[in-house]
Amino acid sequence: MVTAEVAAKPKVKKEPPVVDVIFENCKGCNICVDVCPTNVLVLIKVPNKWEGYIAEVKYPEKCTRCMLCEIECPDFAIKVY
Ligand code: SF4
Ligand code: SF4
Repeated sequence: MVTAEVAAKPKVKKEPPVVDVIFENCKGCNICVDVCPTNVLVLIKVPNKWEGYIAEVKYPEKCTRCMLCEIECPDFAIKVY
């Protein structure tokens, strides 16, 4: 039997978050780096690519799955699962 208390509990993903940067779409604008509250992301130099930088997921273990990076990226270049 499902009690009211169990039914009211939000469904929370148990797996650790996965953060993916889509290389082809990222233009290295730094927005995701700025908005990430736990400093998961950094910019790395990539010669011959847009401004010469792209975002890299440096500390994935610090991700809280807040989704801010995915929401704020203007180029749909970052996905959080
Ligand atoms: S916000 Fe998007 S385009 Fe800008 S650096 Fe981050 S992933 Fe790349
Ligand atoms: S989902 Fe939130 S915590 Fe995770 S990388 Fe994006 S902005 Fe940072």
